Amino acid sequence: MDISFIVPCYNEEENVELFFKETEKVFRAVGATYQYVFVNDGSRDSTREVLINLYEHNPDSNITVVNFSRNFGKESAIYAGLEHADGNTICVIDADLQQRPEVALNMYRHLTEHPHCDCVCAFQKQRREGRIMSACKLAFYKLINQVAEIEFKSGASDFRFFKAKVRDAILLMPEYHRFSKGIFSWVGFQVEYIEYEADERNAGESKWSPFKLFKYAISGIIAFSTAPLHIATVIGGLSTLFSVVYFFITLVRKLTYHINVDGFTQLALIITFFSGILLFTIGIIGEYISRIYQQVKNRPIYIADEILKKK
Ligand code: UDP
Ligand code: MG
Repeated sequence: MDISFIVPCYNEEENVELFFKETEKVFRAVGATYQYVFVNDGSRDSTREVLINLYEHNPDSNITVVNFSRNFGKESAIYAGLEHADGNTICVIDADLQQRPEVALNMYRHLTEHPHCDCVCAFQKQRREGRIMSACKLAFYKLINQVAEIEFKSGASDFRFFKAKVRDAILLMPEYHRFSKGIFSWVGFQVEYIEYEADERNAGESKWSPFKLFKYAISGIIAFSTAPLHIATVIGGLSTLFSVVYFFITLVRKLTYHINVDGFTQLALIITFFSGILLFTIGIIGEYISRIYQQVKNRPIYIADEILKKK
């Protein structure tokens, strides 16, 4: 098998069939053997039925359908797809046709024509999004590159074509909180970038709200950096220093100038200041502890309800 397409699908009933057709159109002519691994991530619409239909009506195509027992998120869907991908090269691609099969073909060609290259990553120079969102994403990349031990390339997507050895490396990372941009960087290998422009979504709507994206960004920072824990230490240290200095200033004022301090205001200020810092740092520590807690429970990354696979 030359290629495995991993296609995470969540509420994509109107897209999967067209995705399949378009990809067939592009890759039929290539003369490579390939398979599809559709992962139905607990869709609430009829994606499951559409996929089963696709599976049953295309006996000549190598299609695997993994149906999750509920929605586990795209990251888990990618992981399940990787577990079922038997190809020498693997392509992770969205079902909504924002990531065109034609681009995937260019990526495949690049991968096969450059033997030293292990992974081709599609990246968007220009994004179809508002100024505020762009600025937020830019800030996120600045921040995470400051604090994480690996490099995150701005605009790099999880639309990737890579060799089987990259898949094997990723499967060695069974962490529960998955942040694929970080995971791809972490495993290393020779990554090359191809510029692409995401198309409009074929049908349905994006599952990413600004709030979900924000949570995902925080999750990414926590997964790949312990810097926030050090921030807690630094802030704690600074505030202690501040209080010691302030104590001596007050003492000197009292002893030399006999100035009476307005006690209540000062006390109120100090209490709010320090309890704020305490809560903030406890919060950061709590974030990490909650991750440790979830990881030690050792829960699987997903539960498959049903797997359809050609023998
Ligand atoms: N997806 C998924 N599980 C989810 C959310 C999304 O498998 O919980 C899939 C979705 O079906 C699509 C891909 O991930 O194939 C990208 O999702 P989406 O188009 O919503 O993201 P965007 O393109 O807006 O970043
Ligand atoms: Mg999309």
